[in-house]
Amino acid sequence: MTDLRRQLPSIDALLAGPGVAALLSDHPRALVVKAARLAVEAARASGGAMPPEGWDAAVRAAALRLAEPSLAPVINATGVVLHTNLGRAPLAEAAIASMTRVARGYAALEYDLGRGTRGSRHAHCRDLLVELTGAADALVVNNAAGALLLALSALARGGEAVVSRGELVEIGGSFRIPDIMARSGAKLVEVGTTNRTHPADYERALTPDSKILLKVHRSNFQVTGFTADVAVVELAEMAHGHGLSCVYDLGSGLLINLSAWGLSGEPTVPEGVAAGADLVVFSGDKLLGGPQAGILVGTEKAIAACRADPIARAVRADKLTLAALEATLALYRDHTTARREIPVLRMLTEDSDSVKRRATAVLQGVGDKAELVEGDSEVGGGSFPGAKLKTWLVGIRHPAPDTYVTQLRSHDPPIIARVAGSRVLLDARTIFPEQVETVIAALRG
Ligand SMILES: *Cc1c(COP(=O)(O)O)cnc(C)c1O
Repeated sequence: MTDLRRQLPSIDALLAGPGVAALLSDHPRALVVKAARLAVEAARASGGAMPPEGWDAAVRAAALRLAEPSLAPVINATGVVLHTNLGRAPLAEAAIASMTRVARGYAALEYDLGRGTRGSRHAHCRDLLVELTGAADALVVNNAAGALLLALSALARGGEAVVSRGELVEIGGSFRIPDIMARSGAKLVEVGTTNRTHPADYERALTPDSKILLKVHRSNFQVTGFTADVAVVELAEMAHGHGLSCVYDLGSGLLINLSAWGLSGEPTVPEGVAAGADLVVFSGDKLLGGPQAGILVGTEKAIAACRADPIARAVRADKLTLAALEATLALYRDHTTARREIPVLRMLTEDSDSVKRRATAVLQGVGDKAELVEGDSEVGGGSFPGAKLKTWLVGIRHPAPDTYVTQLRSHDPPIIARVAGSRVLLDARTIFPEQVETVIAALRG
């Protein structure tokens, strides 16, 4: 075995191989050298044997893998519309166009074109957010976790923030409300119990150090049974009665009511604002359907305090985000346009007959081994927990469904499906019409 390892070729010898030399005309030398090293290391790890496919082919395969960008598009056949691991919201065409426009060159990001002097990046999106939510002012930062950190720092640093034990939630990706509070410099004061919190619980917890009453939307779970919580309208009133502020972490950023499509129970941003919260915090890439962003809307005073806080600089949004968000928000001026143009809203409100037509198109392309299966899609992204959207899936029976689903992930582009029993299931709700042919080709292959 040791002998075999000693016989491994040198990197120089590999680079001189006929197949590898050709690689050098298409790829940077550093990449090909790295690929050769990887091929030799792999051979050493398996005892020093020559790769079964031959050295040239092994180096070539390693080079092609290295040349692939690691962040590449995938086809989401899971039916989870807001899939955090798959990048949450696909963007509307208008948002993509707007991003591309500002990416290519310079943009008036912090420049007042009228006066020819320095302007503010916070001016972008502000007017649209005010118009769409009814708030007096608005601020956009990098994500909602950053927005909440900023809100707590700006309004409660050095003081106390009172929150119900039933709302000390973990959102996923190690984002926990108590941890964020600790970092913001606000002291967390927990009130009530996991299932029930009453107005008197908040009242009793108030001290001269109290600064805010915080309401956190339970976005990714439901509490049922013997429960009680205090509505944000009541919490805001209580806060103002004691000279405090009310901050509402809404998470999902729903701007329009979707109950006509069977999606109810998720509060909208305008409702949060109308309830009197001084600040409402939400994500740009959940139900809003835009780029990753954290949005704060609220009173002029609260937003001014956020803008002046040093954390605002640390969590600021970049020009691509602002461009995409502004274009997405503009679509909301007409709700029908928003539902048609914003992919998240389009997928959430697509009726099951229309999904069925897409599933049937896949089925017809694939033939006998596929069947139509009725099921449910999920909203995902910590929004509308428990909501089920009637959907249609393509089911493929396979003797080794786990192997097959792995094979679909190694397709170019990767297709993310799931296994249920002896079948691999692909939910047509999240497969875009223009992806149908690609899916058919993958399922046939
Ligand atoms: C998702 C969520 C967040 C975090 O939002 P990001 O944009 O992912 O940072 C914060 N609070 C609530 C209630 C959420 O649902």
